[in-house]
Amino acid sequence: MIIKLRKPRTLFGKLMLSHLVIVAVSLIIIGFFLTYLIEDYFFSAREWELAGQAQDAAYLVGEDLIENDLAGVIKTAETLAYSMNAKIRVLDHNRSPLYTFDPDLNESDDERGEGEGVGLEEREIEHIFKGNMLSKKVYGPVLQRLLVAAPVIYKEEHLEEDLGVGNDNYNQKEPEVIGAVTLSVPLRGVEETIAHISRLVLYSGVVGVAVAALFSFSLSKTLTRPIQKINHAALDMAAGNFECKIEEKRDDEIGSLIKTFNYSVEQVQKYLEEQKRLEMLRRNLVANVSHELKAPLASVRGYSELMLDGYINEKEKDNYLRIILDNSVHLSRLVDDLLTLSHLESGQLSLEKSLVSVEALVCWSFESVAPQGEAKGIELNLELESSLPVLYGDRYRLHEVLVNLLENAIKYTPDGGSVTLSVKAGDSKLIMEVKDTGYGIPEEELQHIFERFYKVDKSRRRSEKGSGLGLAIARQLIELHGGQIEVASEIGKGSIFRVYLPLKDEKSL
Ligand code: ADP
Repeated sequence: MIIKLRKPRTLFGKLMLSHLVIVAVSLIIIGFFLTYLIEDYFFSAREWELAGQAQDAAYLVGEDLIENDLAGVIKTAETLAYSMNAKIRVLDHNRSPLYTFDPDLNESDDERGEGEGVGLEEREIEHIFKGNMLSKKVYGPVLQRLLVAAPVIYKEEHLEEDLGVGNDNYNQKEPEVIGAVTLSVPLRGVEETIAHISRLVLYSGVVGVAVAALFSFSLSKTLTRPIQKINHAALDMAAGNFECKIEEKRDDEIGSLIKTFNYSVEQVQKYLEEQKRLEMLRRNLVANVSHELKAPLASVRGYSELMLDGYINEKEKDNYLRIILDNSVHLSRLVDDLLTLSHLESGQLSLEKSLVSVEALVCWSFESVAPQGEAKGIELNLELESSLPVLYGDRYRLHEVLVNLLENAIKYTPDGGSVTLSVKAGDSKLIMEVKDTGYGIPEEELQHIFERFYKVDKSRRRSEKGSGLGLAIARQLIELHGGQIEVASEIGKGSIFRVYLPLKDEKSL
């Protein structure tokens, strides 16, 4: 059976796997180091202990060797082997094994001793017989063994006896090595301890991996859960459901991703609402146009028919003819406005720019609406700065805008109010302000009044003739001049329309 290992495809799986691999690799490395250190430590400790014992053994066996007491050697060696729990071997002054005893086998292998060899190389024996200690690892058939050899030195007191105290040669004489004792112990204990520690490392590894699995499981979940949420929300959004804000507060990168996502949802929502509104406006255009045309047409038609049918006497005729004329004028203005707007929106309207005297333009517009103001009993004020610059623009279109703003101000100001047109030049722009003390515009409607056909509070001032196109045209004309138009208003107090026009065109000329 072939098991194919596949890379985890989920973030969750990847996180889990990487955590587990890190923990497992760390434990393996720690295990190796620990085993090595412990082995080294145990070996050194055992070696040090055995060296001391070998020296003691050499001393004790030495006593018997000097006296050439083989029975004594055997007895001492056996006693030592038992007490030290080590295999002992005694070499005589000819460097050949004299006696070997292994308490583990509980037998003397005196005879086999020769056959087995001493476990030492020739140069090692040489080294010992020069009076040095030696320790080495020997590789036995089953277990490793630690072997320590100590030389048996012909002791000073014997020398003293032989040579006599105070002999001058005594100090110069080299210690005479008359044999050697080797002790060897199996490294069983060390190996067992290492095996034990390895097992401990393995168990703690298993526990560590389990803890790491648990930890990475919960960590992965806390990381991937919000990502799943975002995924679901994004799918919801794709399906057209924009009520998919994610409720999760976090301070990390995922938190800021959620914030960005929620912000995007909001923006898309706003954009779609705006699109819907514009689409509705577009659909309403035909309805609006028909509606705006209907009333004046009906009036023209109705009064003409009445007059033709002879229902109207001579006295009233002029009056009705004026109504017909008014409606015709309104109709033609409406058609003009619609044409202008459609030209503006299709980009077909081009400005006929020339140098315009701001003062002349303002006075011309002001005078155009003066009769309307007077008729309504509205005080008209004109505030001009002493030296107004020359503007580069389309005088007829700018006049149209100013007249529209002034007419609106008069139209939507009750009798007895006032309308002020003030003009001043700023750093790089001209500021024209039309201020009235009229009805004002509700705050929530301010943003819409520059849209075509938009009329504020349609029911209240029905009597006022208006199409809702004037400000839409004004804004587009001002923007075409590179300027801006803005409004500020307070219900019951009045409105201020401000037009900003750039003066740089004129300066660059
Ligand atoms: P209209 O031809 O209806 O005046 P406009 O586009 O010029 O169309 O104006 C849009 C709407 O803005 C008007 O119907 C009116 O309700 C409101 N409006 C414009 N100017 C003023 C003003 N000075 N004071 C109060 N309302 C105004």
